[in-house]
Amino acid sequence: MATPRESSGDAPLIRFLRSRGVKDSRVLDAMGRISRARFLPTNEQDQAHEDKAIGIGCDQTISQPFIVAVMSIELALTGTERVLEVGTGSGYQTAILAQLANDVFTVERHRMLSLRSRGILDGLGFTNISFRIGDGTLGWPEAAPFDRAIITAAAPIVPISIFKQLREGGHMVLPLGDAETQHLTVVRKREGKMVTQTGIACRFVPLIGEQGWNEPKA
Ligand code: SAH
Repeated sequence: MATPRESSGDAPLIRFLRSRGVKDSRVLDAMGRISRARFLPTNEQDQAHEDKAIGIGCDQTISQPFIVAVMSIELALTGTERVLEVGTGSGYQTAILAQLANDVFTVERHRMLSLRSRGILDGLGFTNISFRIGDGTLGWPEAAPFDRAIITAAAPIVPISIFKQLREGGHMVLPLGDAETQHLTVVRKREGKMVTQTGIACRFVPLIGEQGWNEPKA
């Protein structure tokens, strides 16, 4: 677990999340210590407190804060876990995970986004995050097994490589569905088998890779 350095925090966002019924105090504290604006492009920073996805370049978005809260709660982190994150994006969700888990391994397919988020997260003083540029649908075999995994892009199927890299008794959280709408889904590994639980509807940018969607044609 890590505590960010010199962050101004995010009180308005926490008030909003509470008003939406978010009660988990560890997740609220972790989100309250980080300023979401820091992860946005300069011209979008005034929108940091709106509960919507915002463009961060490369056609990608920073997730809605309410969804970040729900996914973080579903991961049920206690501070000891090794977590795989697919879709580093802005690095905002990564910053929340790094405060709630022991180690975070985050994969992003866009080099520019990975490098940018790394700069921000290093600047906040996090030392328990490892970054990789590549196809996260294949997981991170050298760092497995993981206690938890989170995919922050819309998956058409449960990526089997990631499931295999989960420890027995572990679970992953992902938006599962078609390109337009998905449902936040928890997939547990029980005696080697998948046990799936479907949650709220959501909308993410597509997960693109070997066990995701095909690369869009230019
Ligand atoms: N959690 C991020 C969400 C970013 S959007 C945030 O709040 O900022 C989803 C990200 O997943 C995008 O940056 C996209 O480039 C990335 N992505 C899509 N498919 C991927 C894959 N196969 N491997 C790694 N990253 C992927």
